[in-house]
Amino acid sequence: PLSTADLIEEHRICVCVRKRPLNKKELAIKDLDVITIPSKDVVMVHEPKQKVDLTRFLENQTFRFDYAFDDTSNNEMVYRFTAGPLVETIFEGGMATCFAYGQTGSGKTHTMGGDFSGKNQDCSKGIYALAARDVFLMLKKPKYRKFDLQVYATFFEIYSGKVFDLLNGKMKLKVLEDGKQQVNVVGLREKEVKCKEDVLKLIERGNSCRTSGKTSANAHSSRSHAVFQIILRRNEKMHGKFSLVDLAGNERGADTSSADRQTRLEGAEINKSLLALKECIRALGRNQAHCPFRASKLTQVLRDSFIGENSRTCMIATISPGMTCCENTLNTLRYANRVK
Ligand code: ADP
Ligand code: MG
Repeated sequence: PLSTADLIEEHRICVCVRKRPLNKKELAIKDLDVITIPSKDVVMVHEPKQKVDLTRFLENQTFRFDYAFDDTSNNEMVYRFTAGPLVETIFEGGMATCFAYGQTGSGKTHTMGGDFSGKNQDCSKGIYALAARDVFLMLKKPKYRKFDLQVYATFFEIYSGKVFDLLNGKMKLKVLEDGKQQVNVVGLREKEVKCKEDVLKLIERGNSCRTSGKTSANAHSSRSHAVFQIILRRNEKMHGKFSLVDLAGNERGADTSSADRQTRLEGAEINKSLLALKECIRALGRNQAHCPFRASKLTQVLRDSFIGENSRTCMIATISPGMTCCENTLNTLRYANRVK
């Protein structure tokens, strides 16, 4: 198991994998676990341990990441090794991003937003809330108290290449770039927050706004990226920004050959944004002068976060344990592997 001694301090880009437990539905159809996390940074995809007639060939494969979390890990633990260390980055005047990447149903929202499995919608245990908690703890430290920082939050969604404000009735917003390449989401609501409870209320509000409409919550969220931001300001000027992103389901990128035109377009857009994201993170990790942020709306609105000396990123690739998901799981692991 991981301990604080395992915390890697200096890296700009952290890529990790989180495996969720088999769920009731998978247990009901006797799906089998094909994922093992043998140590704190290794993920193995293998044939099921039980003897079965394999309906499909499964090649054994091993991947190494900064950290690998097995199905006994909780959000607090995952947070401590991923987004947690980035809170300091924004207090030091930097830009931080944390992405949840993976197939629909693999645990992105559970990790970022919180536990929505029971009747109670509990967003207090997600990475959004844990980051907010630590921001308000950090504000009290003498070192930062003297900065007199104000904290703001935004919450928006990118759907089919368009931006919608989740704190303002899903208002559609324009994205403009000025002569200095500064990207601005025009009219995006920035709400001042004074304590972690304020933040929880905003998350709830944004979540309910996100899922309203004809399609079910999961059908919609699988096709959109949700971006929650915590912004620190000093005398109204930006000091640091933390963007926490619950990405669209990566399997949607394969919808590009669907019979339905709308689905096809959405699939192409998702594909484009996830490829652009990978390239931007790679550019950041290699200190490249050029970052191809214009390739998608997602990377465009996050431009600030991919540029600059003091930018740091982490990616949490979430995976399902079951054999029925293994192709998507392998795609997720290969993508995560290429980010660094
Ligand atoms: P995604 O956002 O990637 O589509 P969700 O976060 O909605 O997936 O997760 C799908 C289901 O699996 C939810 O019911 C969620 O509560 C459950 N789940 C996801 N990750 C975990 C986990 N680590 N432990 C327990 N349940 C999980
Ligand atoms: Mg989700």
